[in-house]
Order: sequence, then structure tokens, then C-alpha cells
Amino acid sequence: MASYLNASEIYENYIVPLINDHRQDLAEARFSVLLREGAWNSRQKTTWSQTELTSTKTQILMLAANPNHEPSNFTISINEEVWRTLEGSDKTRMALIDHELSHCQKGEEDTDGNPKYYLIGHDVEDFFEIVRRHGAWNKSIENILSAYKLSGQQSLDFADPARDADSENEIEVFADDLTPSEDSHDYDSDIPLLSTGVPLGAAQ
Ligand SMILES: [Zn+2]
Repeated sequence: MASYLNASEIYENYIVPLINDHRQDLAEARFSVLLREGAWNSRQKTTWSQTELTSTKTQILMLAANPNHEPSNFTISINEEVWRTLEGSDKTRMALIDHELSHCQKGEEDTDGNPKYYLIGHDVEDFFEIVRRHGAWNKSIENILSAYKLSGQQSLDFADPARDADSENEIEVFADDLTPSEDSHDYDSDIPLLSTGVPLGAAQ
């Protein structure tokens, strides 16, 4: 079973600089950042990370674990093993967190003037094999290929984590598992461990 650790250093070292440089729209958003320990797989792939709107239930559990917890809008959970494997690959870590922040969006303000936040899915969903066979067969693939060219074609060193990983547990790049918004509010089976006193709190 999984357990969670508060990872406010990820908030300080990655989220804050990314918001300052690229995501001023999220300047007022609050984040809880957790490292998730234990095997974490989804559909035969290792899950690297997950972003959710922080549910009321999670807020209550976090408050129980840490009375100083401040409510957050988003909860970003990072696979602890993946994060550790990426030690020394700071650019990859930054790209991973930037990817998670891309799921986080600010919407209209409510009647009290508080912004409403929501999640969006990936720009591109496809299989390597399909692109290999059919090329850029739709606009989103074409767009991501031009985005890659515009990036200066810098290639991050993401091969190493996969190579170092257990062969039965091979890490896929960006196999983060974005939980669709309709069921993004529950930790389900993880809830009992959240309440067994692992140090938890808002990454504020
Ligand atoms: Zn994602």
C-alpha cells in the first residue's frame, strides 16, 4: 500500500520558480505536494505523478495530520522512487513538475471574487507505434513535433531512470496518470494510510 510524505521542498524548488517564470496565472493558487511511496502503476505502466483538485476529504485528512495545514487548490503527488531516480537530472525533474502544472488551470472568479481552478488533459494522447506507422496523422501530433523543434531540440537525459529501474517496473517517460476530473477527488484505498500519521501537510 502507498504512503505519502509532505514534500514542500518540491514546492519551493520547482513550483515557485516555474510559476514565476511561466505560470503567473497560478500565482495565487495553493499547492499540496506529496511524495508517494510504494509501487504505483496504472494500466501496466509506472505512474510518475498525478495532479488532482484537492478534495474536501483530503483537506480534512491533511488538517488532522498537521494542524498548521493550509487549504490547497491542487494536490500534486510524485512517485517517490521515480523522483529519487531522477536525482541529478534536475531539468527532467523541472519538466515533470512543469508537466503537472500544465494540468492546473485557473478559471473564472466566483461571486466572492475567488478564482475557480480546474484540470485539463494532455494535448497529445497516442502510441509510439502509431506515430511510427502513420507519422503525424493528426494536428496534435504535428503540433507537438513543431513544439519540439522550437524548443531547440534539447533532449533531456530521461533514458537513465528507465535503465536503472527494475525491469519489471520500467518507468515510462511522462506516464503520469491524470485522473479525470469526475473521479479525481478520492484517494480511495490510500485513505487509511493517510490517516495513520505519516507527516503530511500543505506545501505552502
Ligand atoms: Zn500529465
